[in-house]
Amino acid sequence: MAPVSVADPDPAPETHAPLGATRDVGAAPPAPRDLLGRPLRDLRISVTDRCNFRCTYCMPREVYGLDYAFLPRAEILTFEEIERLARLFVRLGVTKFRLTGGEPLVRKGLPDLVRRLAEIDGVRDLALTTNGALLAAQARALRDAGLRRVSVSLDSLDDAIFGAMNGVEFPVQRVLQGIRAAQDAGLVPVKLNTVVKRGVNEASVLPLARWARDHGVILRLIEFMDVGLTNGWRLEDVVPAAELVALVDAAFPLEPIPPAYPGEVATRWRYRDGAGEIGVIASVTQPFCGACTRARLSAKGELFTCLFAAGGLDLRTLLRGGASDEAIEAAIASRWQGRSDRYSELRSSETTGLRRVEMFAIGG
Ligand code: SAM
Ligand code: SF4
Ligand code: SF4
Repeated sequence: MAPVSVADPDPAPETHAPLGATRDVGAAPPAPRDLLGRPLRDLRISVTDRCNFRCTYCMPREVYGLDYAFLPRAEILTFEEIERLARLFVRLGVTKFRLTGGEPLVRKGLPDLVRRLAEIDGVRDLALTTNGALLAAQARALRDAGLRRVSVSLDSLDDAIFGAMNGVEFPVQRVLQGIRAAQDAGLVPVKLNTVVKRGVNEASVLPLARWARDHGVILRLIEFMDVGLTNGWRLEDVVPAAELVALVDAAFPLEPIPPAYPGEVATRWRYRDGAGEIGVIASVTQPFCGACTRARLSAKGELFTCLFAAGGLDLRTLLRGGASDEAIEAAIASRWQGRSDRYSELRSSETTGLRRVEMFAIGG
């Protein structure tokens, strides 16, 4: 069932037509497979480590205060550098990109990057994960630049609960305005990512499910994960996906539906009355590393092969040191071929204390 990558909820159907033109660009090398036979298919690109929220489960404000030193601009990849790497990833088999962060919409000029990525031959899906705070103002430009889909994170419709979880008392209404703007711009269907934490927002699940049904939005319920080392994760705080499904099913009867394509991250359920579907991402209770075809590029240009990795491969030094495309491509392929990650399947009391990258650095 659901892979892990949990927070990475949104692969796209394989049926999408290529976004870019179909001009022949010459033979690509054979797509690399990792040590468990998994190909490289998706790349999540973190465009910034900065965020305007301080979600308790990601960047708790006690740790990441207002004076927190984010990466200086010069350390962040430029759009030209991201595009160059993206083209190499496509040659190695990637067909889907997802822009993330930190909060991707705080990066200036994002539509320019979207346009560059949408024009790459072989790209079949281009999506964005955002907290929605700045979406109302940018949805149209993003869509016009070639963005296909958007996932918006929202943990409650209750301002007190949402404000406490986002750490900056950001109001629910502003996120809902962002969702409406995305729908109006044609970024549909919008998906809503909700991280559920025991004793914090379980009571928000049903109101969110009702709202999503009524507004043509697909709710994705996400188990609270032990990403990074600063969010105080405890197994007791995880609400298992099976419990979340039972909760929704009791109010709005559900039936399972098959994955939209092999290796889909979320388990899907359809409302029996025809009012749409929900997804559950059970990275803790039902890990699915076997189907994990995803790599992550951090804002400063490191390649991570697992959400729970301790370190990444420094591609920025290669880029800025004058390495050829062939050399960078070979470095990426070799890193992927040496990959044997399956953290969520191995998760145990021994793994929970291991050093690992923070979620806002690689975007979930
Ligand atoms: N700032 C954007 C946002 O919040 O949508 C994009 C980056 S955020 C790291 C990507 C996704 O990771 C969000 O949907 C967020 O809810 C999820 N996430 C962050 N920390 C998590 C955790 N500890 N467990 C589960 N999901 C988490
Ligand atoms: Fe998640 Fe890592 Fe497993 Fe992939 S390999 S599903 S990123 S734990
Ligand atoms: Fe920011 Fe997203 Fe992390 Fe919340 S989950 S702190 S919005 S990066």
